[in-house]
Amino acid sequence: MISEERINTFINSLDKGNAPYLDELERIALSDEVPIIRKDTQSLIKFLLTLTHPKKILEVGCATGFSALLMAEYSDEDTKITTIEKFEKRIPVAKDNFNKYDKTGKITLLEGDAINILAGLSESYDFIFMDAAKGQYLNFLPDCKRLLRQGGLLLSDNVLQDGDVMESRFAVTRRNRTIHERMREYLYTIKHDPELESVVINVGDGMAISVRK
Ligand code: SAH
Ligand code: MG
Repeated sequence: MISEERINTFINSLDKGNAPYLDELERIALSDEVPIIRKDTQSLIKFLLTLTHPKKILEVGCATGFSALLMAEYSDEDTKITTIEKFEKRIPVAKDNFNKYDKTGKITLLEGDAINILAGLSESYDFIFMDAAKGQYLNFLPDCKRLLRQGGLLLSDNVLQDGDVMESRFAVTRRNRTIHERMREYLYTIKHDPELESVVINVGDGMAISVRK
């Protein structure tokens, strides 16, 4: 939460919640410190899916599968989701969760580094959710743009890093400085790219929504 914690608590209190198995997966992920999407981010994703009815979704950063299952639950029956994860410890957990809860086989998990996997993809996607290593968003962007159809949405998570991104680089710890600089560059790039129209919003940990012109 970036600011105005009470406003956020109020907004979240209005939420009607998710399917019970998603609540359970969310609880487990949070207790295992898996950095899953926050409540207000979930709400935004559900809204965008309902508004745009994407048939093909690509997710960069699957973790244990929570957001992929949320998108599977709240998208059209014939929607397909491809999600990428490289962390060996999380892959079997995601697979297990998909076996249990992705009853209609909407989700395909691609294992490996997104930088290589994205390069090998060639189909076009209606909706891309970028939620992997923040320092790498800039490297993922050219392939994501290539894979995004005209009029498609690119949703980027964690772009404000709890407000750190707006601070001077000197206020950020050395460890976070590279990510800080890269995220600023990413935001500048998507805001100035002539092929994208982007809005940065203070939802969750900061999000950017870009549409491919
Ligand atoms: N979208 C998930 C959370 C993803 S957390 C949810 O909300 O449920 C980010 C994930 O991205 C981590 O599990 C991390 O291992 C993965 N990741 C980071 N860099 C990656 C890369 N280069 N390729 C593939 N996965 C990556
Ligand atoms: Mg995230």
